[in-house]
Amino acid sequence: MTEAKRATAGGDAGHSAISIAGGGSVLRPLKAAEVVARAVVRTIRSEGLQTGDSLPSEAEMLPQYGVSRESLREGLRLLEVQGMISIRRGPGGGPIVGTVDSANLGRMEALYLHLAGASYDELFDAWVFAETTLAGMAAANPDADARKAAMAPYIEGLVDDVVHDDLDVYMSGHEGFHGSVAALAGNRVFQVTFRAYGQIVAHHLAMIGDVKLIHQELVDDHLTLAQVISEGDSDAASKLMNQHLTRVLALNRAQLGSLLDGDVEWI
Ligand SMILES: [Zn+2]
Repeated sequence: MTEAKRATAGGDAGHSAISIAGGGSVLRPLKAAEVVARAVVRTIRSEGLQTGDSLPSEAEMLPQYGVSRESLREGLRLLEVQGMISIRRGPGGGPIVGTVDSANLGRMEALYLHLAGASYDELFDAWVFAETTLAGMAAANPDADARKAAMAPYIEGLVDDVVHDDLDVYMSGHEGFHGSVAALAGNRVFQVTFRAYGQIVAHHLAMIGDVKLIHQELVDDHLTLAQVISEGDSDAASKLMNQHLTRVLALNRAQLGSLLDGDVEWI
């Protein structure tokens, strides 16, 4: 980031953002609902439950956790908004195990970024840093078979070669490639955290930009990226990813216009 950009970062004039705290909240005692949420998560892991598996019913959980119905529901709700569980309503319903999705982390993070007055330029810087790092790590993955298998669908043109009319479907297809690259990076912390930036960008731009305009360029980029990652060329992967995102950003900057001057929205 240039010095000029740094100086103007931190919110648009006239709207003061909330300053970012030093981290004292880490010692805050847990609320009853949070204790429940942690207990449910512990059950999911200790029993090896997978997405779609049923969790005990509310009636079974109440005596198990010894909390009020209100706290139990609040605890489940905390997990539901993160997509970690979903609640099936009606007869035979109840909580089921959800997914670990960076999109939900991105949604949460967008709230932080918005209140802190973070700009879209700052978000884009973080996104480019994250994705180029992930691409380099993916190509450096020592498991050549895993690299080839993960990238083969993109090299063989099995995915990503159709322009969907539904922009949401298109964006999730585009994000699918970046998700595959992130998975190859071989570090779940980077995979979960770094992908959140891309998910925020995708979510916000899907609602504003028209990425279909550069569809073919993006597909070609993915093909070239898939080839160098498959071959294990880490430097080329980082460089190509940077060029790819620069292309996406150029389009988005043109389409976002004055929105770019504002803070990241919590949408
Ligand atoms: Zn892409």
